[in-house]
Amino acid sequence: MTLIDGKALSQKIRLNVKKEIDVLDSIGITPGLAVILVGDDPASKTYVSMKEKACEEAGIYSIVHKMPSSISQDKILEILDMMNHNDYIDGILVQLPLPKNINTTKIIEAINHEKDVDGFHPFNVGRLVSGLDSFVPCTPLGVIKMLEEYKIDPKGLDICIVGASDIVGKPLLNLLLNAGATVDICHIHTKDLKAHTQKADVVIVGVGKVNLITKEMVKDGAIVIDIGINRLKNGKLVGDVDFENVAPKCSHITPVPGGVGPMTIAMLLENTLQAAKNRKKKKEDN
Ligand code: NAD
Repeated sequence: MTLIDGKALSQKIRLNVKKEIDVLDSIGITPGLAVILVGDDPASKTYVSMKEKACEEAGIYSIVHKMPSSISQDKILEILDMMNHNDYIDGILVQLPLPKNINTTKIIEAINHEKDVDGFHPFNVGRLVSGLDSFVPCTPLGVIKMLEEYKIDPKGLDICIVGASDIVGKPLLNLLLNAGATVDICHIHTKDLKAHTQKADVVIVGVGKVNLITKEMVKDGAIVIDIGINRLKNGKLVGDVDFENVAPKCSHITPVPGGVGPMTIAMLLENTLQAAKNRKKKKEDN
């Protein structure tokens, strides 16, 4: 059984990103990321401070707009408009979830799609579905990079994704389909989850339910990617897979923590670097 080391891979990627940024920086282009954080959800605050720190280490200029949950939708739109027109900002990220009184779709649609480093804007979603170049959501992109690193070619594989959210399952479905896999996607209404996971060469789960995937649900030699993040009462972080019992059956498996998690931030840095390179190219073409 091979443990897929997302921590090591993410560090390698972050180093490469930093090297490229140093070169851009030397010619006067410093990638910039604007983060919008609304409210005081503790998990969101933690994610945002991790992103800020990662930007600093990579040499990305970042600004965080922190706003109270009482802020109006119009005020957020106003700040987005400012960021859309700020030439020093290459990427814009709105930390989700937003408070219930805010229309998330409207906010995402207001981001200039050329700065949509989270890949949530319908423009980028549409391009991804069509197999065209686009910004791709960071977590699914991180999963693809892990498969690449471990020489796992999705072409012709039977892949079962468990979890069908807009930010995890659906983009992964499209990425894997575009890469030639046969993809099965399951969700809360799936009648017999085991029937789907059991026949898959690769099981990828992102649900948020401890021990959802047990050893009876995966075939011998399967590859298992665990995107789930759950905090137990004792403070320990675990994924959605019963790791201890599933791992011995697998050819490859990701741990939690140290698997997909660190890849997500590395992909955000890569997407922001890409946005800055696009700015450079645009400048040169003009
Ligand atoms: P979500 O709540 O938006 O979506 C959950 C999905 O799981 C839905 O499609 C739902 O239908 C499905 N689901 C729920 N219960 C199910 C069940 N019993 N059987 C099958 N499917 C079921 O969540 P999300 O934002 O996509 O996040 C999912 C998990 O991934 C969470 O644990 C989250 O913390 C984690 N996550 C991790 C990263 C990372 O960087 N590692 C990034 C994003 C999300």
